[in-house]
Amino acid sequence: TTFRTHSSFQYANLVVEKNTKKQRLPSDPEKLGFGRYFSNHMIYVDWDAKEGWFAPHIKPFQNFSIHPAAKVLHYAQTIFEGLKAYHGVDGKIRVFRPELNMERMRRTARRATLPDFNTREALLLIDELIRIDADMIPKTDKASLYIRPMLFATDQHLGIGESMQAKWACFTAITGSYFNYDRGIRLLADPEMVRSWKGGVGQYKMGCNYAPTIFVGKMAAMQGCDQAMWLSGEDRLVTEAGAMNLFMLWTNEENELELITPPTDSGLLLPGITRQSVVELAREWDLMKVSEANFTMDQLVRAVQEQRVHEFFVSGTAANVGPVSEILYCDKERGVKENLVIPTMSSKMQLVKRLNKTLCDIHYGRIEKKEWQRIV
Ligand code: PMP
Repeated sequence: TTFRTHSSFQYANLVVEKNTKKQRLPSDPEKLGFGRYFSNHMIYVDWDAKEGWFAPHIKPFQNFSIHPAAKVLHYAQTIFEGLKAYHGVDGKIRVFRPELNMERMRRTARRATLPDFNTREALLLIDELIRIDADMIPKTDKASLYIRPMLFATDQHLGIGESMQAKWACFTAITGSYFNYDRGIRLLADPEMVRSWKGGVGQYKMGCNYAPTIFVGKMAAMQGCDQAMWLSGEDRLVTEAGAMNLFMLWTNEENELELITPPTDSGLLLPGITRQSVVELAREWDLMKVSEANFTMDQLVRAVQEQRVHEFFVSGTAANVGPVSEILYCDKERGVKENLVIPTMSSKMQLVKRLNKTLCDIHYGRIEKKEWQRIV
């Protein structure tokens, strides 16, 4: 803890304390679920406004000890990331585009008035954490290592204000697959449920964006839906679903085959790394027009009625890409209640299937795409 640096923590100052206790994991990757089994080590880095960043530590996985007045517990001054490492078919471990997660985390930290750090130093620490627990990652393409970096305000002071102390931490969870791809999911589109707004923080991965969605998720479940689909404003712009971005493959009003996803410059949605990867892959394949553009519920309803929607899917780190088969549209204000059925699972183009396979092939090293694969 004697090394202190102002602009960022430094990998060179890392102190490692090994865990001697090993935990047991279920041998069947199907039983892992998501985010239940944690690996044996984690990263801790403390920050203080006067002293700067302290030396990073990798320690045995353990509880935090924080003051009851810590700002994070009251005012939700916490941010996080989610990314994954995969045990490849060649025995190498690859992390998927982690520099994009660190850049997003730094943008979020800035908006949350939490301290900045260096992308490269954070990546080196995460590499080391993964290497230390590498033997816990199942050697199968049915599992992966979910990586959860976080940064939160620990100031022991009840004032609502900038925290003079913070903690950067990162732990990992051994996870199985998140989605059952045998059926598409069902979304609830209700404009009374709002996730983000202009001038808000929807484009940042701040803890405060997620707490209000739990209740909405329960309401969606009560109506037989898997997730909420988030709409925005009088136009009922389609933005995201649950904690995932979304895509539609349709024949648009100009009679062009188009893959469309809402744009990130509206500030209404999280710029997902999976989303960006899907857009880039689809542009490379050049099978259809690929647009980052808004579409409204009215356009969606009309397109479904005219059988112009071919596939609808969500994207995110936990789920990759997942098919959507139904959208329940309930708009009390406009007296609308209808169930839109989307033929994603029977689509001849099988775009969502192909995207899923290609992303998995890149994750597990069956396809080489060096710029997207950080080998640890
Ligand atoms: N939207 C929201 C609100 C999210 O929380 C996430 C998960 N980070 C995503 C979209 C998907 O982002 P990514 O592809 O980077 O996981």
